[in-house]
Amino acid sequence: MSVGAGSVPVVSRHTTFQFTADPSAEQARGLARHEGAARFAFNQGLRLHLNARRAAKNAVDDPAVPVPWSGFDLINAFNAWKKTEDAGRRFVVDAHGTAEVDVTGLAWRSEVSAQVFEEAVVDLGKALKAWTDSRRGKRAGRAVGHPRFKKKNHERGSFRLRNKTSRTKAGVRATIRVGQNGPRSVTLPGIGAIKVHDDTRRLRRMLAQGRARILFATVTRRGGRWRISLNVEAADLHPAARHPARGDGDHTGWVGVDRGLHAPVVAALADGTQTLRIDAAPRALRAAQPATRRLQKAVSRKVKGSTNRRAAVKRLARHHERVRARRHHFLHQVSNLLVKTHDRLVIEDLNITGMLTNHHLAAAISDAAWGQLARQITYKMAWRGGQLLTADRWFPSSKTCSGCGQPKDDLTLADRTYQCPACGLVIDRDLNAAVNLATWGEQHHLSQVLDPEARGQVTNAHRREGSGRRTRVDETSPDDVGTLTHAA
Ligand SMILES: [Zn+2]
Repeated sequence: MSVGAGSVPVVSRHTTFQFTADPSAEQARGLARHEGAARFAFNQGLRLHLNARRAAKNAVDDPAVPVPWSGFDLINAFNAWKKTEDAGRRFVVDAHGTAEVDVTGLAWRSEVSAQVFEEAVVDLGKALKAWTDSRRGKRAGRAVGHPRFKKKNHERGSFRLRNKTSRTKAGVRATIRVGQNGPRSVTLPGIGAIKVHDDTRRLRRMLAQGRARILFATVTRRGGRWRISLNVEAADLHPAARHPARGDGDHTGWVGVDRGLHAPVVAALADGTQTLRIDAAPRALRAAQPATRRLQKAVSRKVKGSTNRRAAVKRLARHHERVRARRHHFLHQVSNLLVKTHDRLVIEDLNITGMLTNHHLAAAISDAAWGQLARQITYKMAWRGGQLLTADRWFPSSKTCSGCGQPKDDLTLADRTYQCPACGLVIDRDLNAAVNLATWGEQHHLSQVLDPEARGQVTNAHRREGSGRRTRVDETSPDDVGTLTHAA
């Protein structure tokens, strides 16, 4: 995985704005109804799909039995089904006492936006494709299982709505709007203007200037809280926010980023200059683990099915949600710092760093968080036209002397400083590793084959089926950089 300055295509920037919702009681019921409808559509789509597969299997000599696999075919199958007697009917008794069946179709289908059904069924299509690709070996990574029926979960759920725009006399009208009912509000079709905790000013400004378009909204419920995440296509960064290109003969400026054991992140140049050091994860994250254990114990002590247990489960879910939000905020801060001030970065391969994890050190970043940070650095670096390399997974960045290059195999996790027996260098352990990564970048950047597949990681939101036609938007201003609104 590497992204070179010369090879970076002009990417459209996808980013998300997250808001914590504060819905009225009626709106909360509407949100819950939409969430239930999404789950229902997913399950019904899966039922229709499996029934069709069974029918096709039983009718070997009749190849005409169609099985809906794609999101498109699944939407059609679902839409056809929802008007049928199977979806809903009622008995009507006339004046003579004769009962007749009145086919109503899915009776509550008008109470929720039809898009919720479609988006859920599109997700099913993607899940089916991931499963078939995985079985045929066309998909890298862990094996993907067959999609399963979704159960109602009291702690979490979600649904998605597309933004639909139409031209009116007054201008372009969108179904998803921000700031319509006060600066802290987000309007969703079928639900109305929902109050949010965070200001929408930055997004409103970008929308008003035509530098951003809302593509869709994902509404999630976690631990009793509703969150609205708006997926936005934003214009490319202003040239002033992009790193200038380096000449072909320039091998300098590489900065190694080490996921330290004592400091969560240490960045340094090959000459030993430390350019960034995050000394500790925020207190909230360090303190999270004991609290998690305490709350988990509280759950296990309660009798299954009891009200007390349900309350304890809820407290645990709230806690997880808070930690998640803080980690999210922290990682974005770190990745922003790294990509703003450096145009050439070298990070470690995830697989090798995972082997070094020391679970006793609260300062260390977890594997999952490091993976998230690496993804953020990848796409943010591409936005800024910088370069990013991933060091060879077998490169011993920790166990090599950054002064003389001699290996040291007896370095333990407890060693805070690196002491070289060959040249006598004494250096902070994490800084030593970062310097080694920078040196690796200087030596290897020319031989790294720029992988066109790496572009896939440039965007953090993928184009999806059913998300409509896109047009390009104009450039953003420098202060739109890092367009993330954090909900703490
Ligand atoms: Zn040495």
